[in-house]
Amino acid sequence: MSAGKCEVCLEEKPKLVTCGRCGSRKYCGAACQRKDWPTHKHACQPKKQPSWILKITIPDSREPQIWRTLVCPDGATFQELHYAIQIAFGWAAAHSYDFVARDPTADERPVDDIRALIARRMGQDAGEQRDFGPRQNYIRIVNPNDDKHIDSLHSYDRKHSQTPEKKADKVHVGEQFNKNEWKNAEWEYMYDHGDEWGHEVEIIGRGNVDDAFKCTDGNGHGIAEDAGSMRGWEELKDAYRAAKPTDEQKKRMHWFENLAKNFDPEGLKGRESHVDLSLINALLKTSMDCMD
Ligand SMILES: [Zn+2]
Ligand SMILES: [Zn+2]
Repeated sequence: MSAGKCEVCLEEKPKLVTCGRCGSRKYCGAACQRKDWPTHKHACQPKKQPSWILKITIPDSREPQIWRTLVCPDGATFQELHYAIQIAFGWAAAHSYDFVARDPTADERPVDDIRALIARRMGQDAGEQRDFGPRQNYIRIVNPNDDKHIDSLHSYDRKHSQTPEKKADKVHVGEQFNKNEWKNAEWEYMYDHGDEWGHEVEIIGRGNVDDAFKCTDGNGHGIAEDAGSMRGWEELKDAYRAAKPTDEQKKRMHWFENLAKNFDPEGLKGRESHVDLSLINALLKTSMDCMD
């Protein structure tokens, strides 16, 4: 509150209130603010907040561990964050995804046994929701185009009747990261519900108000899409490390250099740590709109 002139009645007052949404329009009190809202609401834009600095890591990756530091605008949607992660890690956006805010205090899920698996499978075929153990996540943010991706069928275990779901193109990053109800949440981005590439999303700081998506640091060559989970990726790395590759290994390398959805013609030899930040940032500027 500060002294000055009310923008509606134009009276000079010792104390003014400010529109909480945009933080710019000033009033003598609630009456003038109410009177002004029908016109002001067209101009009232939410106050911009500083960007988020995120360290995103594929925790199961080893030697090197694959990670990127991303600057993410506060007003970005989770769908835009998904696009940015795809670009930063060199994925091909060929599978589905979700984000979850994991509750670190949640009770552990029971160990999966074959009977539980069958019961859930049958429930799934019957189209019913069957919770498997206690709720793990505060919220799940899903791909709005899930029906386009067959792997989304495998995301059934990530659903829970106590976990609300929202569509990624409708939810903003800042609003979720700021939620008081889950300030302690551990955020996770899961890409490809078949191969299950889990990414930890750690908030490491705040940047400037006008920041756009940017990748500021990173390590580790992006994983080949459809490599066959982490084991398949490790086998591909082994092929490149082999002094005398077997026929099977040669086939894998040929696949990675020519056929994988995110193929790399230069291969992996001596390039396991390779990250091209300037290419990533050029794509973050130009290619976000072409993603799906
Ligand atoms: Zn007034
Ligand atoms: Zn306003």
